[in-house]
Amino acid sequence: MSEIPTEDAWLAGALRDLARAPGTVLGIGHDVAAVRLASDRVAVLAKDVIVDGTHFHLDACGPRAAARKALAVNVSDLAAAASVPVAFLLGLVLPRPARRDLFDGLMAGFADAAREMDCALIGGDTNVADGPLVLSVTVLGRPGPMGVLSRAGARVGDVLSVTGPLGGSGHGRHLTFRPRVAEALALAAAGVPRAMMDVSDGLSRDLPRLCRASEVGALLEGDAVPVHPDVGAPAGSRAALDRALDDGEDFELLLAHAPLSPRVAADLAARGVRLVRIGTTRPAAEGVRLRWEGSSEPLEARGWDHLAT
Ligand SMILES: [Mg+2]
Repeated sequence: MSEIPTEDAWLAGALRDLARAPGTVLGIGHDVAAVRLASDRVAVLAKDVIVDGTHFHLDACGPRAAARKALAVNVSDLAAAASVPVAFLLGLVLPRPARRDLFDGLMAGFADAAREMDCALIGGDTNVADGPLVLSVTVLGRPGPMGVLSRAGARVGDVLSVTGPLGGSGHGRHLTFRPRVAEALALAAAGVPRAMMDVSDGLSRDLPRLCRASEVGALLEGDAVPVHPDVGAPAGSRAALDRALDDGEDFELLLAHAPLSPRVAADLAARGVRLVRIGTTRPAAEGVRLRWEGSSEPLEARGWDHLAT
């Protein structure tokens, strides 16, 4: 199995000391958490924090695009769980001295994004500090047609698919991507995903996460991975594949599923869902491997690792 990302390793250490709350349906280690509110009511929750200089460059993109990204990355986690966005809370840390035009631009961006993603801003808190702009969003959702999907549930022999091309998102797509909520709900309505996540840190980091949660291995077919033209490397080259595997912030869905029947495939296509088959799950003992030019190699996790030094 490939190396565990630093963020995951730090979390694993901390989690040993945290008790699991009695109402927890899904805990840390997936794209969302889910808690039971009553015998038949589940709330789906996720939090993602983005920081100026790391996840966006405020001077270049402006406050509206930064605000949109802050909500979109969270809604993408709800999509990963095939859950329906409901509302969000905002934690805003403005650089000192607080500027009114920055605040107004951010709030206009959040208002637009809330309409676009059908997810209402219902509260939050604003602070000021000596540091970069920080946008912390906590999103609330409700379970979709299959309940709350997670990264666990893939079986050996499943098909691995993604919903769109990967790589090169730094050229602008990381700000403008559309969270795959409609696709996730269509997939769930058809009963397709066994395990699912969104590709935020790059397929080379995120596929091993899905495999660990599902206790399976994988064989990724390098020439089947859809590469976005934005990678700026020759189509079909290893350089282009590496960008698709490692760049991250694609926010496409990665899922494990049984082979699609012609009827389900036609139904998904009619709903505008495009699944690109990129490999298969294998026994855990085989690890996560990449086939390229006739031979296979361990998939190296070179995607985004926030805490790596
Ligand atoms: Mg995620």
